Amino acid sequence: MTYLTHNDLKKYGKTYSLSVLAVALVNHQKANWELAANNYRLLKQVRKTTFNFDYFRIDCQFNPERIKSSTADTGAQAIQSRPCFLCEDNRPMEQAGIPYGNDFVILCNPYPIFSYQLTIPTLRHIPQLIEDHISDFLNLSKDLQDFTVFYNGPECGASAPDHFHFQAGIRDILPIEEELSIIQEEKAEAILSHHDLKIYAVCDYLRKMLVIRSSQEKILAQTLKDILWLLKPHNSGQEPMINMLANYKSGVWHITLFPRSVGRPSEYFAEDFDKILVSPAAVEMAGLMILPREEDFYKITKENLINIYRQVSISNDDFRNLLEQIKKLT
Ligand SMILES: [Zn+2]
Repeated sequence: MTYLTHNDLKKYGKTYSLSVLAVALVNHQKANWELAANNYRLLKQVRKTTFNFDYFRIDCQFNPERIKSSTADTGAQAIQSRPCFLCEDNRPMEQAGIPYGNDFVILCNPYPIFSYQLTIPTLRHIPQLIEDHISDFLNLSKDLQDFTVFYNGPECGASAPDHFHFQAGIRDILPIEEELSIIQEEKAEAILSHHDLKIYAVCDYLRKMLVIRSSQEKILAQTLKDILWLLKPHNSGQEPMINMLANYKSGVWHITLFPRSVGRPSEYFAEDFDKILVSPAAVEMAGLMILPREEDFYKITKENLINIYRQVSISNDDFRNLLEQIKKLT
């Protein structure tokens, strides 16, 4: 594993902050790693189409390079029988990184959806469970201000549920990044409003979403822990099914949290014409549907999107219940 320093990255971009250094890292990898160079070049040619809804949009991206990730078998047996691609010993020689804190490394994702995309695994091979890494999530989004940092739960789109990792994509690609301010001002229901903590619920966005806003790291971390606890399946040590995205702007964190009910919709498992190969993760919940099969890109309809989001999102009743419990948090 090669760790790159400011000096190594100087000729690939600016280096005055971690955020710009991460951009330089992707440029370095595009110049020195054929797989990354090819896939980032192909990304420029991906086709995109937009479906407009009332006050928001869903973009669909036809991206054949994502087929592996969308169809990853994340069952225990399949995971055990393959070498972990996030462990240092198994990573490609050409993949270089920037160390982050004591326990993370920032890597360029060689199968991009964004023009700059990072995978940020722990150095240790530990399972995908956010509970002990909420502060890391918040710190990372503060340090990578030009990116949206996201977390996929082990059954909600993470392709390596056995090795803890975040991802980050350069901003201004996900529809939600544009829509968040109008949602907060006009479409969201205020659930909790303390001096330095605001929680909103969004119900009519095809999928259910919580928006949590704070400038105080400790308060925010505790609130996220509390919400995860409320969402936890009864009598189980399992993590609730979620996707989460974080942005840090002008001293304030904006977290969007999508409680889920299933990992993949029925369309994924259907046969022939009814099949649509989608495996919704944070990016899809944020309004960018990745379709690795060309036929799906051409046939998908607004009705399909409505149906897919309805299935993978938490149910109306469970969401209402959750909101009532959040209101009681002090
Ligand atoms: Zn691993």
